Formats: sequence, structure tokens, C-alpha cells
Amino acid sequence: MIKVCKFGGTSMANAESLRKVKSIIDADASRKYIVVSAPGKREKADIKVTDLLYKCFDEVMETGSCEKTFKIVRKRFTDIAEDLNLTKDFTEIFDETERQINENKDADFTASRGEYLSAILTAEYLGAKFVDSFDLIRFDSKGRLNEEYTNDKVRNKLDGVEFAVIPGFYGKGANGKVKTFSRGGSDITGSIIARGVKADLYENWTDVSGFLVCDPRIVPEAKTIKQLTYKELRELSYMGASVLHSEAIFPVMKSRIPINIKNTFKPEDAGTMIVPSEYHLENAGETVITGIAGKKDFSVIFIEKSLMNAEVGFIRKVLSVVEHHGLCVEHVPSGIDTLSLLIESEQLKDGVLTDIVNEIRENVNPDYVHVIENVSLIATVGHGMARRSGTAAKLFTALANAGINIKMIDQGSSELNIIIGVANSDYEKCIRAIYDAFEE
Ligand code: ASP
Repeated sequence: MIKVCKFGGTSMANAESLRKVKSIIDADASRKYIVVSAPGKREKADIKVTDLLYKCFDEVMETGSCEKTFKIVRKRFTDIAEDLNLTKDFTEIFDETERQINENKDADFTASRGEYLSAILTAEYLGAKFVDSFDLIRFDSKGRLNEEYTNDKVRNKLDGVEFAVIPGFYGKGANGKVKTFSRGGSDITGSIIARGVKADLYENWTDVSGFLVCDPRIVPEAKTIKQLTYKELRELSYMGASVLHSEAIFPVMKSRIPINIKNTFKPEDAGTMIVPSEYHLENAGETVITGIAGKKDFSVIFIEKSLMNAEVGFIRKVLSVVEHHGLCVEHVPSGIDTLSLLIESEQLKDGVLTDIVNEIRENVNPDYVHVIENVSLIATVGHGMARRSGTAAKLFTALANAGINIKMIDQGSSELNIIIGVANSDYEKCIRAIYDAFEE
């Protein structure tokens, strides 16, 4: 049995949390490969080491040296090392890192040093081998992960290594320099390592006990999701559920390795298991919906034209206007003579919306174009919906009873998801009503 464990920023924040990390690892000999984030916030007002490092980079660019802010970074690490009674002297490593930050003048390199130093320190504390992700993870010239190369490297370099600590968040770019993932990217590193070593389980240790059915700021008593499929997770995290980096599932998904979201501060909680769909169907039990997630601030461009369905190339001509402006369309619900484009309002600022509407008028000569703004999208997600009749009825009855006017409905062809559009002002009320309808 092999487990890859990734510990996030709050788990690495101070000596106390690191002691918890050690006891978790000591409790299970299969926890062999440990991926770590940089130290995060110790309390609400604190600054994450990664943010301090981005500040170091700005300082180097402005003044030629990161001395002032790097002092704070250094202290974060030395405090931890002292509190843990580590006897190793890290001075030389810190000095060398500071020198490289000043010399390289590179944002990715600078930001990556949080994970680098965190992994060196943790390896020392746990008595494990430090293996640098710079030697494991490769990107291609377009900045995408070079999967095959990376898999081979991970397999070869970790073969025969019984216990290792690996820094998250970065790898080697095609130009031979350090390259980071986007923020929160250590989750992706953990997934890559899990795939490379053919782990049985990828444990992602964070500061919450898994995914909740919906946002606890709206429904304080929201339950934890026990089991979620990769696909359900995609839908939920795309719509704003943010416990795990949205790209972290891809490496493990290819090898069908489950992910367990666990809480370092409550290790006894089962957390959320993220599993392949085929596994889920056997164990699904009675749950109909798995989660509810949503995003505010969309605009709907509603287009009507008689006999639109008979006009060859109509949809392409409409979409080419949006493409020409370099914008992403989230959904395209359509009727016989109607077509709506749902776009994030943020993308339509500064006159872009007016330009698009005018160009659509010129391009396809519609009978009518109308824009609705301040729309929220809410996704109700669950494989259980496909097996059950009456889910949609229950959902829409709940919304009708709550007096919510639905502006758009889109049910994905996978029957995994019903997305509705409502006014921003109904967003919270809508999530509450759906939760109450299915989780009573
Ligand atoms: N330390 C990085 C960040 O704050 C990456 C991570 O923690 O996953 O975004």
C-alpha cells in the first residue's frame, strides 16, 4: 500500500501544526511520499510565505535586493526550526536562497522557494529524504505539463526511495528554469506524484474536513460530502467550490487513484473521498444530489430570430463575434428560435458588451436582442439525479415555493448537473431553498 500525502499551507504554518503532520505520518507506514506547501497563515491577519516571496520579487525589481522582506521569510522558517528543536543549521541554505533570488530576478523562482525551504525543513524533521520537484516535474514550451517525461522521472527518481518529502507548486520549464503552477498548485504536484508512484490513495490534508454540500456562509449547517466522483468534483469546482485546485484531479484520474480530502487538525474525521464514477455507482446509496455550487455576476445575451433553426451557420456566426473579442462563453442554452449566450460580466466591461451586441446585429440580423445583467448561475450536481425521476420537479417546486424567478435552465447531457440562472439578489435564497429541499 502506498499513500501520497499533500499538506497545505495551514498544516505547514508553525511548529504546532508540523507536530500534527508528523503524528499523522507516523500513524501509517504507507504514507511514504509527502508533498508540502509553503507555510501559510498562522492566524487570519498573517501573510502567507508565498505572498511574502512575491513581495521579495517586487523588492528586487525596485531596489535590487530582497533583504527587507526576506528577513521575514527567514524568521518564519527559523522560528519553526527552533520550536521543533532541529539541530541542523539552515543558515547557508537561506543565504544561498537569498543570493539566488537577488541574482535571478525571476518571479516563479522566487515564489517557489517557499515550498523548497518548507520541504527541506520538513524532510529534516521527519527524517525523510528531500527530493526536489525541479528534478521530477517538466513543462513543455507552451507551459503545459509534459506528462510522459514527468511520469518517467517520478517513477525513476522515487524508485527505491522509502520515505521522501517533495516540494509542491513548481517544476522545470522548457527553458530549464523553475516554473510554478497557478496559486494553490501544490495540490497538482501531489496528484502528479501519486500517479507517478502508482499510489493506492492520494491524501490531501488541509484545514477543513472535506467538501461541504454548499457554501457554509449561506447554509451554516451544511453537511460534509462523504463521496464525490471526479466528474462531480469538476462540475462543483468549476462553479466555485475551492477546497482543491481545479486541475488537481487530472493526473490521478488517468490512473483511477482516489483522493481523500482530510483535515490535519481533525484527523479522525473521514473527510471527502473523490472516486472514479464506476466506483461511485456501487456505493452511491440513497444520495440524489451531491453538492450545490454557484457563481454570481453573469450577463445573458438573448437573441431571437424566426426560423433560426433553418439558417445554416447561425450559431457559428454568433459565436464568432464572441471569439473575435477573445471571450469565453459559459453556456449556450437554445430554443427553436432563440439562443442565449452566458458570459461573465467582468469580461464585458468598458463597452465590450455594446460592441458585441452591435456586431451580432450586423452578423445575423436577428429580430430581437436583449441583455439581462446581474445573473447568478447555480449548479445542482449529482450522479444520483440520472437514476431518480422527479429531481427536477423537486428542485423547481422548491424554487417556486421560495418565490424565486428562474431566468435560465440548462441540464447538461450527462444528467449530472442542472444549472439555473437567477437574479444575483436571489442567489443565497436559491441555494438555501435547494439545500432544504434535498437535505431535509
Ligand atoms: N504556496 C502556493 C500558494 O500559496 C502553492 C500552494 O500552497 O499550493 O499558492
